[in-house]
Amino acid sequence: MCDRCEIVKLSYDEYTNNVRDIVDSGEKMRYCDECRNYIILKKWECMKCNSKGTIRNEREISVNHCGESVQWLE
Ligand SMILES: [Zn+2]
Ligand SMILES: [Zn+2]
Repeated sequence: MCDRCEIVKLSYDEYTNNVRDIVDSGEKMRYCDECRNYIILKKWECMKCNSKGTIRNEREISVNHCGESVQWLE
């Protein structure tokens, strides 16, 4: 089962790939793909003013800053 939504039964791939260590404990959390996408933050940087920000990875949306699309960081 997914440790976040507790609804989704994890596939083998999800079980082995979507693992996160819990800070200050030996425990691990395992997530379904949908929850993992929610948890992972995408980082962006504005090429004009060097502002940086993050958005949740739920959905592909374009982010604009200073009137231009931002650069996505790894
Ligand atoms: Zn889930
Ligand atoms: Zn900017």
